[in-house]
Amino acid sequence: MMEALAPHVERLDEMGCPIGRDPRQMSAADLEAAGHRKEPLLRLIRRNCIDCAGGSEAEVRRCSLIRCPFWPYRMSTNPFAAERELSEAQRTALATAAAARKRARFSSPASTPATLEAAEAPAGIAVASCPSVGPKHDAATQESEAA
Ligand code: SF4
Repeated sequence: MMEALAPHVERLDEMGCPIGRDPRQMSAADLEAAGHRKEPLLRLIRRNCIDCAGGSEAEVRRCSLIRCPFWPYRMSTNPFAAERELSEAQRTALATAAAARKRARFSSPASTPATLEAAEAPAGIAVASCPSVGPKHDAATQESEAA
């Protein structure tokens, strides 16, 4: 009897390895069922960078791996985009929205105290002194950055 495939798997190859479905052929409902949701790409890059850096926003800020294609975008902005002239009200609205997003992120179950840097953690949350590092942040890189 053949086993059912996971919803994101198209088929198994001749070796029995799963071949992922083409997301261009999937509906929004299919993608959401697979655990994804529509998000701005800059925010996705930022989340990927935080994951890469072992959950540390401070390490993302310090990342020096210039050859990574995400490097210019890791702070959730596009530095190639033309600068916008913002009014004081627009600036305030953007800052308020950013603060709300940060609060929501800290209060989500995915955020754990161990992933927060001391300077960024809300008051009363215990913080690990040494966050784990991501796959691209090896010890040698960290030591050279610390020097
Ligand atoms: S190496 Fe740096 S820029 Fe690239 S994904 Fe990791 S944190 Fe982001």
